[in-house]
Amino acid sequence: MKLVLTPQTLPDVESANVIADIKGSEHPEQMVIVSGHLDSWDLGTGAIDDGAGVAVSIEAANLIQKLHLKPKRTIRVIAWMNEENGEAGSKQYAKDHEKQISNHFAAMETDSGAGHPVGVNIKANPEVKKMFAPVAKILQDSGAGILDLVEHCGADIESLEKAGVPAFSPIQDGRFYFNYHHTAADTLDKIVPKELAENSAVIAVVAYALANMERPLPR
Ligand SMILES: [Zn+2]
Repeated sequence: MKLVLTPQTLPDVESANVIADIKGSEHPEQMVIVSGHLDSWDLGTGAIDDGAGVAVSIEAANLIQKLHLKPKRTIRVIAWMNEENGEAGSKQYAKDHEKQISNHFAAMETDSGAGHPVGVNIKANPEVKKMFAPVAKILQDSGAGILDLVEHCGADIESLEKAGVPAFSPIQDGRFYFNYHHTAADTLDKIVPKELAENSAVIAVVAYALANMERPLPR
């Protein structure tokens, strides 16, 4: 067998995270991050990794606007740059916001595809899971009521996790994710619109719940 491998490492170029805020009505300085990553592996178009995560995050903010909900804290949508090649975007964000880490109320990332969500991963003080029981009850109606305490919620929110920011991610049906992940087959036809929409709904519920929590989350 003869393999012809063509990868090459090119020099870095300047790029950027894309950030948009829905300003909080009571605590605008406190942030709930809703995110996915903007870059992808270069073989396919990156539909499930992680176009889906970016779309779901933007749509969650859109849903909150459409429903005329007024989050008390700021909901910040971030499309992170350079997850795949060393997380330069999220690392720079953490560095730039080092002094405002305590104002980062929570961080969420969707980066496990576009499959049906069954619940929410939580990387935080175990008390947070208890505080989230009423939210899980709402999500249960759409089959997304599982709450799972985990060690890690997402590559781009890892710097924030390490700084103590409570982190969340949807638990998604990942049965087919690795059939396409980082391959030429990661294209839009692999996404089921209904399941993508279900993810947006879960993220919108969780983001709004976080933005309006009465008590701060224990760290
Ligand atoms: Zn990814």
